[in-house]
Amino acid sequence: MNNTPHAPVTVIGLGLMGQALAGAFLKAGHPTTVWNRTPAKAAPLVAAGARSAPTLGDALAASPLTIVCLTDYDAVYELLGANGVEPDPTTPIDTTPIDTTPIDTTPIDTTLINLTSGSAGQAREAAEWAERRGARYLDGAIMAIPSGIGTAEAVILHSGPEQVFADHASTLGALGTITHLGADPGLASLYDVAGLAMMWSVLNAWLQGTALLAKAGVDAATYAPFARQIAAGVADWLPGYAEQIDKGSFPAEVAALETDARAMEHLIEESEAMGVNAELPRLIKAMADRAIAAGHGGEQYPVLIEEFGKP
Ligand code: NAP
Repeated sequence: MNNTPHAPVTVIGLGLMGQALAGAFLKAGHPTTVWNRTPAKAAPLVAAGARSAPTLGDALAASPLTIVCLTDYDAVYELLGANGVEPDPTTPIDTTPIDTTPIDTTPIDTTLINLTSGSAGQAREAAEWAERRGARYLDGAIMAIPSGIGTAEAVILHSGPEQVFADHASTLGALGTITHLGADPGLASLYDVAGLAMMWSVLNAWLQGTALLAKAGVDAATYAPFARQIAAGVADWLPGYAEQIDKGSFPAEVAALETDARAMEHLIEESEAMGVNAELPRLIKAMADRAIAAGHGGEQYPVLIEEFGKP
């Protein structure tokens, strides 16, 4: 019933991201109710056809699907009332930590999709909190900037009960490329940070090479296409390496870790000789050295998963 082409939706939180989310729903033809702590931020959306809910309670009751996108999880509890007391929007914000455990039976009769960024643990706690409040709940992570929302480039991850996702997938599709990752509500947050690890690692590796080549007078733009080709080539190794990790078996089909370690030493020496920062190469080598000391020198690179899997 809710998966109709123009199902109503509510957006709570109209910061940069919330405004983009509400705008995308409106553009896709969904009757859109909005609410924000600072009501003035609703004005451009109202001008575009949104309905501004007079109260938070009205906003929650307005639609079968409610998107929440606030600064952080503390803001979510503070707003939605972990203790069941709907806060007065004129009350100054209390910044003391919020207890999310009190029992509250005030029902929230909507599906909440919380697209606020947070940790996996916060997502799981929020799912339990929502269950206590009677709401159906999905946690989500937005891997996009506001201007990308409403286009296929905007990747939005969801986790929680699959049926809840299925019930609202057609409405959520207005926001971008939507994915359901699994029943564990923490998965969206985990994929989000895993993606950040990938992003920063690739960028740092590129910057290392760019700094090295700059010492030889090669500008960043000249190196970038070459670096891109290497990054794409390495990305192609991932499925095969993932298979090794999932099997727990790391035969050296391409190179042994100890061969890689010699090249790592070379990267450190070259960085030091050229007078560029060698912290990243040393970190890379330190992990390989530990795996080699543990007897994995003859195995292939992904055996390092054992180092990454430790606290
Ligand atoms: P923002 O522009 O700073 O907006 C924050 C929103 O949270 C505002 O609507 C603000 O209300 C509301 N808020 C904060 N504390 C509140 C409280 N105690 N009670 C009620 N409302 C409260 O941030 P944003 O860029 O929209 O980001 C929102 C979420 O999306 C964050 O978790 C962020 O990490 C995530 N995200 C953002 C981007 C991005 O590029 N912007 C990308 C991916 C994910 P007021 O207007 O009244 O202050």
